[in-house]
Amino acid sequence: MTESNAITLSTQVQYLQGVGPARAKRLEKLGIHTAQQLLFFFPRDYEFPAPSCSIDQIQDGVICSLVGRVEDVDLITRSPGKSICTAIIANDSGAVKLLFFNQPFRAEQLMLDQQVQVSGTPKLNGLQVEFTHPKVVMLSPDEETPEPEILPTYPLTEGVKQTDMRRMTRLVIDGLSEELKEVMPGDLRRRSAEVLGVQGIDVNDELFEINRSIRGLHFPKDERDLRYSQARLIFQECFVLQLALAIRQKRLSVERKAPLLASSSMIHARIQNRFPFPLTADQTRVIQEIREDVSNPYPMNRLLQGDVGSGKTVVAIYAMLLAVANQHQAVLMAPTEVLARQHFRTLSSFLSGTKVRVGILSGSLSASERRRTLSETQSGEIHLLVGTQALLHAGVQFHRLGLCVVDEQHKFGVAQRELLRRGGQDPHYLVMSATPIPRSIAMTLFGDTDLSTLRETPPGRGVVHTYLSHAGWKDRWWKFVRERLDEGRQVYVVAPMIDGSEAVEQEPAAEHEVREDVSSVESVFEDLCNGLLADYRIGLLHGRMDQDCKQRVMEEFQSGRLQVLVSTTVIEVGIDVSNATVMTILGAQKFGLAQLHQLRGRVSRGVHDGHVCIFTDGDTDPESHERLKVFSETNDGFELAEADFRLRGPGDLFGKSQSGLPPLRIANLHRDHDVMVAARKLAKESVATEEFFASDQWHELRAQVLRRYGARLDLGDLA
Ligand code: ADP
Ligand code: MG
Repeated sequence: MTESNAITLSTQVQYLQGVGPARAKRLEKLGIHTAQQLLFFFPRDYEFPAPSCSIDQIQDGVICSLVGRVEDVDLITRSPGKSICTAIIANDSGAVKLLFFNQPFRAEQLMLDQQVQVSGTPKLNGLQVEFTHPKVVMLSPDEETPEPEILPTYPLTEGVKQTDMRRMTRLVIDGLSEELKEVMPGDLRRRSAEVLGVQGIDVNDELFEINRSIRGLHFPKDERDLRYSQARLIFQECFVLQLALAIRQKRLSVERKAPLLASSSMIHARIQNRFPFPLTADQTRVIQEIREDVSNPYPMNRLLQGDVGSGKTVVAIYAMLLAVANQHQAVLMAPTEVLARQHFRTLSSFLSGTKVRVGILSGSLSASERRRTLSETQSGEIHLLVGTQALLHAGVQFHRLGLCVVDEQHKFGVAQRELLRRGGQDPHYLVMSATPIPRSIAMTLFGDTDLSTLRETPPGRGVVHTYLSHAGWKDRWWKFVRERLDEGRQVYVVAPMIDGSEAVEQEPAAEHEVREDVSSVESVFEDLCNGLLADYRIGLLHGRMDQDCKQRVMEEFQSGRLQVLVSTTVIEVGIDVSNATVMTILGAQKFGLAQLHQLRGRVSRGVHDGHVCIFTDGDTDPESHERLKVFSETNDGFELAEADFRLRGPGDLFGKSQSGLPPLRIANLHRDHDVMVAARKLAKESVATEEFFASDQWHELRAQVLRRYGARLDLGDLA
């Protein structure tokens, strides 16, 4: 290649040798326009060379390679286009047979006595070892066996083959007339290696420099080269993300103002004494964390996670009363009307006899009630306001909002928060979630959030037993259900959907797409009424009933008039009936782990032990089976979250969180958890220094953080 047409990073791929406009158009589909983009289009996997093996050691189905001499070649043509070419390859350790269907050219390619290298997956056919369509490399007579090559495999698009991708990338890597700019200061590369022992990096080494990493990622010399190249790029991706999050957190703490909520020991004692029970050690610890947070003049941003019933609401009530004690208001936002009303009831009864006034803004208020609530919120007569997120859009004005508690985080993002800012002040935020988030996710999606966890359950609660039903269990289980009913307990029966015709439940969004071929709640309801539970009072509940109707059914179940509630997942959140201790889940394979766990939380509300039996219908695929097995084996929401993550990856959480963060390209949250931890620590340390924002050696990295996350995380300019 001459100087004049040397490849630079900005060379358009269509001008690469052998590409042209038509293929360039196709590459655009992969987001590749320039040579640089080609370099940063990472392989999704690799083909590793098959280990060489002597013929007498070959095992059926185990990939291997061997070098030998062509001893015999035979071509049989059956009809035009239909042929079989067979060849015998021999060496000192034996002979193998190669088979090629409809590739007549093979007969000419493989000449007698030619030395070849064969690799593929062998099949033992009696005593004969056979390879069908193996990879064959011709060797010249006295050539050494070629160095085995690790080959990249790329994501493809129509009209772009694996060999095209390899050839183009090779062309750029070999012909590039300039170097990629290093963004990580040498100092940092040396320090990072220390914390990267987890990636198999020798702590005495430093991380690869960028040009070396990119070359090694596409065309590694050997496995070590590949590992080091990946390590550098994985670390970089984690580090840039963590820098962005650390910068954001720092920015929020510097730029945002929130009221200082002081808690003297007198206030603390007074609030604590309102609870009719001693707080658990976990609750005490978390409350301490919150007290420290809100004593700062910038907004708390804390996620409180714990299983249903672990006592989160009690912690939230503490925090709200702390705001009130400091002459501020608090707002509690629930994901559904039902839950909002339930919170309202809990708060009202809890605060009856005090001067603290609780209000609710809900869809069922009359216009005048609504006006009154809004005006009393604005004047400050209402101290604690409860509602759904709809209240954000209802033009609600607070007198002095000090704290915002959000129950279930998934739909509450940056935009919603802006609606609660007033006069340059933010409230403190406490987000409660009963969906335990695996640590590695928490660290990224919620990386700018502090995390508190309640793992301990308040005392005096029954245990929940979970059974994965077996064939022939049906009668036994329903007999057990009737016995519990006769003892006075209540029962849930959950089925995946409403009727045979239409899709998914709306409230809350089902975690797994529910298909149409499943048992419907309505038919289950009818079957039970006319059969197994004919002697009991049964109610039906699903998301398509109107609000009043739903409300009535729930109240009847709450009061005990209904003994059995047949329902879709609308009960997943919201209903709290401590006398309901038995749950049957039908079509359980249709539900995700988190959802199942939420459902199970419904029968662990009281002093009685709970019993959950899960049934599947139709064939269950292995992944679902594994999921249900894990579910029946542990009650620990955090263990389940980790298992869910292991089985399904972070996909759903990314989708739900509305974090809007771009997906990771090379790092994998699960596999690279330890790298993320290391990157987080380094990022926090770096951002804490003046130097990070001032010095030239960080300039490129700052620019990269901005390019990737600046707009999404509102990082401002980092100059
Ligand atoms: P969550 O919001 O996590 O589902 P809650 O705060 O609603 O949990 O608590 C569940 C139940 O346990 C409530 O009835 C609550 O009154 C009770 N509870 C909470 N904390 C304690 C405690 N420390 N000791 C005894 N009961 C508690
Ligand atoms: Mg709760």
